[in-house]
Amino acid sequence: MSQTLDRTDPAEAGPDPAAARVDAWLGRLEAALVARDAEAGAALFAVQSFWRDLVAFTWNIRTVEGRDGVAALLRGTMDAADAHGFVADPDEQPTEAGGVTEAWILFETAVGRGRGHLRLKADECWTLLTTLYELKGYEEPRGPARPLGAEHGAHRERVTWSEARQREASELGAAVQPYVLVVGGGQGGIALGARLRQLGVPSIVIDKHARPGDQWRGRYKSLCLHDPVWYDHLPYLRFPDNWPVFSPKDKIADWLESYTSVMEVPYWTNSVATSAAYSPQTREWAVTVERDGNPITLRPKQLVLATGMSGKPNVPDLPGMDVFAGDQHHSSAHPGPDAYAGKRCVVVGSNNSAFDICGALWEVGADVTMVQRSSTHIVKSGTLMDIGLGALYSEQAVASGMTTDKADLVFASLPYRILHEFQIPLYDQMRERDQEFYDRLEAAGFRHDWGDDGSGLFMKYLRRGSGYYIDVGAADLVANGDVKLAHGQVDHLREHSVVLADGTELEADLVVYATGYGSMNGWAADLISQDVADQVGKVWGLGSDTTKDPGPWEGEQRNMWKPTQQEALWFHGGNLHQSRHYSLYLALQLKARYEGVPTPVWGLQEVHHRS
Ligand SMILES: Cc1cc2nc3c(=O)[nH]c(=O)nc-3n(C[C@H](O)[C@H](O)[C@H](O)COP(=O)(O)OP(=O)(O)OC[C@H]3O[C@@H](n4cnc5c(N)ncnc54)[C@H](O)[C@@H]3O)c2cc1C
Repeated sequence: MSQTLDRTDPAEAGPDPAAARVDAWLGRLEAALVARDAEAGAALFAVQSFWRDLVAFTWNIRTVEGRDGVAALLRGTMDAADAHGFVADPDEQPTEAGGVTEAWILFETAVGRGRGHLRLKADECWTLLTTLYELKGYEEPRGPARPLGAEHGAHRERVTWSEARQREASELGAAVQPYVLVVGGGQGGIALGARLRQLGVPSIVIDKHARPGDQWRGRYKSLCLHDPVWYDHLPYLRFPDNWPVFSPKDKIADWLESYTSVMEVPYWTNSVATSAAYSPQTREWAVTVERDGNPITLRPKQLVLATGMSGKPNVPDLPGMDVFAGDQHHSSAHPGPDAYAGKRCVVVGSNNSAFDICGALWEVGADVTMVQRSSTHIVKSGTLMDIGLGALYSEQAVASGMTTDKADLVFASLPYRILHEFQIPLYDQMRERDQEFYDRLEAAGFRHDWGDDGSGLFMKYLRRGSGYYIDVGAADLVANGDVKLAHGQVDHLREHSVVLADGTELEADLVVYATGYGSMNGWAADLISQDVADQVGKVWGLGSDTTKDPGPWEGEQRNMWKPTQQEALWFHGGNLHQSRHYSLYLALQLKARYEGVPTPVWGLQEVHHRS
């Protein structure tokens, strides 16, 4: 018997059952799509199921749930999308574990090529991810299609690369209007600018700073990225493999500056957008920009605010701020600890910036008190790397063949509605591993939480963008009392002290307000109008009905990387992972509009909250 088996030619052994199941399911989906039969398509999904579409079907970023959701998405999109050619990716073998069959898939739409990910339970779809990665006829000039660079032959009118670049730079914004104006040239604006450049969309990225990277240079001097290098690559250009795990802030700043240059991102420094207005008649923005102090009006068709979700400081307005005699500033304006050796420092807040700043102040010998206003989630950096990110973004993941693209898609394939269910067991493991650390912290009076439902840091980030600290050492200072801890809201300031709501008085030479940042639609209010900001509504969050993320459930992050209620207005940003991955979908949406490719948006974001 075993000899017979050994001699069997694998090609004659029949398809592996996981592959057969995937092929059969994709075949049924294709048949339903060809027949334009939404009900038949929906019947292929389990009762509890999720379809996440990144621009391929919906020209939007949408997740639908259950058969009704799938049917609605299909009814609304299948004619225009005309999706077909569904196959399992030949380079990736489908797998089966714990009753779930997983596969990478490829497909085409009327206008583009897509890839995605499928999870089947028995023969029904549990999760489906569909993403657009390129437009037919507008493929990026990469790999075999890369530009020649040199112009062989002999031409009297030869123009060198740098002459062409100079001419382009002098014309763009003057004789030639950008199709897209990206306001904000931090990592978000730069990544999007690079993609638009590769896609041949005339664009300008503007920033009020003097150099790309100044966003990071200007932050407190001890800052290093909290996320590890494998998570942080920019599009096209990976960090070299000798790059530190956690980039110091000035090093990431220099990388961003070099990247802007080598990726030829059209980037205006010292340029502040001061106002913007949209004309529905001409379908054009008029944006006033002060470039090197001189006002210019740009007339882009599309306006992207990449002005930073950690860019609009929440500065409290407290009685007595005007009488306080010491230094006081928001964490975003904190210069670093050097001037405060031996001084009494009060840091209001207990999240990332607060801990980083407290730690650095303690290191120079300041007397530091942290004021904790509400509970915070803390996870040790090493533990987060091992348990939280290791499978997708780590040296081991790279060694096992995980690419950044694939990791991003695996991440994207887990619907937000159930992501917390995947996260909770990871955070349970973290709690167990570092129990002694948490016990010490809590014994010191620190109010610690694991998120409303125990799902930890990443869900807090997606839901509210705040409420956590990735511990790189400063938590121990609080646990052992080196950094003192006080609780409650600040009631008022006196000439030399901070007074809390319970009457506690903290002597202070410095007050740092590590009080976080406001919603990105505040930028729209500043630049365009309060009416447009209200029309667009809150930016960020999922509608999870947890702290600072009010319901109803949205399914996706509000207003990020997708059409908003204001025509031709877009928001872009997030951490380096999000800037890298989602800039692709935003760039494709803009490219399609630039080329006149039809982009019927399905399921435009509804607005439930203004800020
Ligand atoms: C202390 C701290 C640590 C962080 N650590 C990490 C980390 O480890 N990893 C990570 O991925 N993220 C981290 N973040 C979060 C986030 O990724 C960063 O804030 C990042 O800088 C966001 O990039 P961005 O391009 O979206 O916005 P920003 O970097 O804030 O850039 C926005 C730009 O818009 C410009 N701008 C605003 N208004 C105008 C205007 N009207 N005209 C012209 N220009 C304008 C600003 O000058 C600014 O340069 C951290 C944030 C903070 C505050």
